[in-house]
Amino acid sequence: MTLLVRAGLLVTGTGGELENGWILASDGMIAEVGSGPPPAADEVIDARHCVAMPGLVNAHDHMYQWATRGYVPDGTLFEWLRALYPVWAGIDADTVRVAARAAMAHLLLSGCTLSTDHHYVFPHGRAGIFEALVETARELGLRFHPCRGSMSLGESNGGLPPDTVVEDEDAILAHTEAMIDRFHDPMPGSMCRVVVAPCSPFSVTPELMRDSASLARRRGVRLHTHLAETLDEERFCLEKFGRRPVELMEDQGWIGDDVWYAHGVHLNDAEVDRIAEVKTGIAHCPSSNMRLGAGACRVEDLVRAGARVGLGVDGSASNEDANLPMEAHQALLLARVRSSSPSALDARTAWRLATQGGAECLGREDCGTLEPGKCADIACFRVDDLAHAGIKDLVAGLALAPPARAQTVVVNGRVVVRDGQLLTGDEDQIARDIAATSSRLAG
Ligand SMILES: [Zn+2]
Repeated sequence: MTLLVRAGLLVTGTGGELENGWILASDGMIAEVGSGPPPAADEVIDARHCVAMPGLVNAHDHMYQWATRGYVPDGTLFEWLRALYPVWAGIDADTVRVAARAAMAHLLLSGCTLSTDHHYVFPHGRAGIFEALVETARELGLRFHPCRGSMSLGESNGGLPPDTVVEDEDAILAHTEAMIDRFHDPMPGSMCRVVVAPCSPFSVTPELMRDSASLARRRGVRLHTHLAETLDEERFCLEKFGRRPVELMEDQGWIGDDVWYAHGVHLNDAEVDRIAEVKTGIAHCPSSNMRLGAGACRVEDLVRAGARVGLGVDGSASNEDANLPMEAHQALLLARVRSSSPSALDARTAWRLATQGGAECLGREDCGTLEPGKCADIACFRVDDLAHAGIKDLVAGLALAPPARAQTVVVNGRVVVRDGQLLTGDEDQIARDIAATSSRLAG
């Protein structure tokens, strides 16, 4: 089975910007990329009114939060978390399935083809939550890296979350390994890879951090956690452990090219250099950081130092959206505000973070660019509509102008969005279901 995508402008992600470009995919992989007269194929997508680029990669998310959008609209991270933990204690596999369907549908419609999800709320006695996430990604056709997250440090032991939402550490490790056994596929072209992901320094113990790192390395899977998101977190780490967040991670073996952190906002110069040197990734989440007033990531410094930097939408309770072109747009503008310089982050770099940068964080050498031998994951954005028609530099324009809804999205050589419509789910039904689930959870 071959698929041909024709584009007005093809951005390969390796420096190529080809007018009248095309991509030929065969059995889920890219066979050939070129411009001018295209080869024949079993299926042809005519996207000559679009810019085609590598499918976007979402490097940080909490999809269950789609069911709790709009809470604590003006709170800090810790205020917001304390208000939401009791609401999240009410989730089960059905809630997570409905919320993930909404989050994934929205991501696909924004051109995202590969996403992680950091799920760390497993209320006692509610089975099937992790399975619901994996099944929903299969149903919608999204390439997926689910994180088995965890919380074990409750309020009575000096942590932030209430004791009712934390789990026993042995149970966490056993369940994490069971999910790796069941769902992790390490092969090139994989549609599902499992990640080990304790939630944060203020919601798990140092012992669980260390044991999680040992488990991940024994099983050859990646590690992910929140780090250096707010100054409250920095104060917590200094007061409880006498260490800055990055120092704490170093102590626990949580640094290296198999680790990526969400946020990395509050880093000093030495930490920026260290993260770049060891190839630890940073998932920059500009909308969430701005929504919670967390601060502005030193994204341009990280990029300049040679760090791996991807973009994440973060959970939709701290963003109210799951739109990666929006994050590229926000990353570009926020970097310029932070540094008072229009050259802090250019549009092509912002798109690289949203594609190749995220793929590097997730350890996917087979994703993030459009080249022969890579996964056939493609996003096409319409540029003949009112929001974009006539823009001079289309690649810059797509980052500076209103973020576009994707016109065509291909994952693993399969068309999942055509003419701006999701083919693998009923968008209106998904919206009705999430409205009902959100109001039920609100009580
Ligand atoms: Zn997060």
